[in-house]
Amino acid sequence: QRTHITHLEKNRTLAELSATISHEIRNPLTSTRGFIQLLARSDLTTLDRRRYVDHALSGVDQAITILTDFLNYAKPPLDMKEQLDIKEELEHTIRFITPYANDFQITIDILHECETPLYILGESQKLRQCLLNLIKNAIESMPNGGRLSLRTCKHPSAVQISITDTGVGMSEKQLNSLGKPFYTTKQHGTGLGLVVVMSLIKKMNGKISFTSSLNRGTQCSIIFQQY
Ligand code: ADP
Ligand code: MG
Repeated sequence: QRTHITHLEKNRTLAELSATISHEIRNPLTSTRGFIQLLARSDLTTLDRRRYVDHALSGVDQAITILTDFLNYAKPPLDMKEQLDIKEELEHTIRFITPYANDFQITIDILHECETPLYILGESQKLRQCLLNLIKNAIESMPNGGRLSLRTCKHPSAVQISITDTGVGMSEKQLNSLGKPFYTTKQHGTGLGLVVVMSLIKKMNGKISFTSSLNRGTQCSIIFQQY
């Protein structure tokens, strides 16, 4: 059984997000504070000291990650001036992510259905950031290896990028939670990746949709107007 969902209006206002952000940053900072207090004690074994330092650092790292993702979201409007070939942008992102995929024992295949360049208007850095986030999610859904299939194709006046994995998949309920700030099922996730992706794609006048099947995998499609 497959479920399908399209996200167009999932963007939160900055004000709504800011309220939750402060909460999410306070948590890791509070725990870091606790570990620093423990570190001030004089009767610690070397092992305990090491552990408290690690915990304190990971709290700070978590806060930094959340801030970085949030700033990406809050940045000023896009520069839509660049003409981008989605095939090139995808290839570039793949080169960047291949070592990460190799760590997960994942096979990558790429299919460009159309031989000519597929142009859109957008901002290269932002498009790459979206692709990177989506491909990373696909890879992370396959902890025991699998296949990552990337495809580009052309419609009458639009172009499409598809990212398909053979990973854990999602239930309908999980699909509906995509793009909600801080929704994550990962131990070290931020749940902000897709919030950023959806906001950027919307700014580039694109549309994103997900199809998924539990234990089988997920397909994500992005469609942009052809330029
Ligand atoms: P994060 O990756 O930090 O958890 P995201 O916003 O990128 O945050 O993703 C939110 C959640 O959506 C993930 O934790 C995961 O549960 C789910 N998800 C996203 N992409 C996929 C995918 N390709 N397959 C399975 N689950 C996914
Ligand atoms: Mg992610």
